[in-house]
Amino acid sequence: MTGSYMVFYSAFDDFQAWREALESEGVELCRSEDIADADNVRSALVWKPPQGFFQGFRNLQLVVNLGAGVDALVGRNDLPDVPITRLSDPRMARMMAGFVLFAVTRYARDIPQFEKAQRERRWHYIHPKDPADITVGVLGLGELGLESAREVARQGYRVLGWSRTQKSVEGISCSSGPDALVSVLSQSDIVVCMLPRTPETDGLLDAAMFRSMKQGAFFINVSRGSIVDEPALIAALQSGWLGGATLDVFAKEPLSPDSPLWTMENVLITPHLASIALPSSAAMQIGENVRRIARNEAVLSRIDPKRGY
Ligand code: NDP
Repeated sequence: MTGSYMVFYSAFDDFQAWREALESEGVELCRSEDIADADNVRSALVWKPPQGFFQGFRNLQLVVNLGAGVDALVGRNDLPDVPITRLSDPRMARMMAGFVLFAVTRYARDIPQFEKAQRERRWHYIHPKDPADITVGVLGLGELGLESAREVARQGYRVLGWSRTQKSVEGISCSSGPDALVSVLSQSDIVVCMLPRTPETDGLLDAAMFRSMKQGAFFINVSRGSIVDEPALIAALQSGWLGGATLDVFAKEPLSPDSPLWTMENVLITPHLASIALPSSAAMQIGENVRRIARNEAVLSRIDPKRGY
């Protein structure tokens, strides 16, 4: 790709790591301010670039979203009419699956109760349950969602998976479509949200959906905060209808210091880091797509802006 560049924009301080990782793929990555001839920019690797960012690059042929969730990108009105891809990286999926397994295990093994008992110097024996008697519902069976569902199933839990189109996965009881959601929620002891944010999923988990969950069930959200009606979630946690929640994502980030979620004993908050893009492993897919574009071939992991993921 001599003579052509990939332009970079990210709010994180990770340019050098991406530059080095992509160098080994033969891709020359540049910050926009370092580019002498914008016409030589053929591709862009971006995370939430400013409005109008793409305008200066009239020979752009590919936009790579620096992450798995593309909601911030597809909602814009200044996108060039070129293929848009997401990162697809087995190590990012494994990192997410590890976080989900941690959060599920924490509830399945009553860890919050032991944390509380320890603070009170109290020996508090709770006989562990057989994982086969605990049902985990995973909403969204995409690249990260499916890997997480499989990881949980591998530990012996009964896993229900829900997606837009029907899947068939060994060890996971799959269902699909809006009508099946309440059934998944009402059977699950632990619900994990792994749905992308789209016009269909925005606000999907509202008061009625929380009400359809088992009393005392636990909720884990690692995908996008706005899929949840946050006041309804807070009410369900305060009333004790939900037993607890692990929240990595919020409708507005950073979560406001005023949010009642901060001080709720049955809530664990982490600051949107369940999984991250790892340059050393994700670069391979980016390099492959840059080469495919140069050969006029279809790219991998292309997203559909109309569908929203
Ligand atoms: P994918 O885009 O690969 O898959 C999305 C899944 O959700 C698919 O199974 C899809 O169904 C399903 N889905 C989409 N819309 C609906 C709907 N209306 N009803 C039912 N199911 C639906 O996503 P990933 O698994 O790779 O990632 C999930 C999300 O995780 C990302 O969108 C991102 O927001 C978030 N994320 C969070 C991170 C964090 O650190 N917290 C890090 C990285 C990502 P179908 O299979 O039929 O298409």
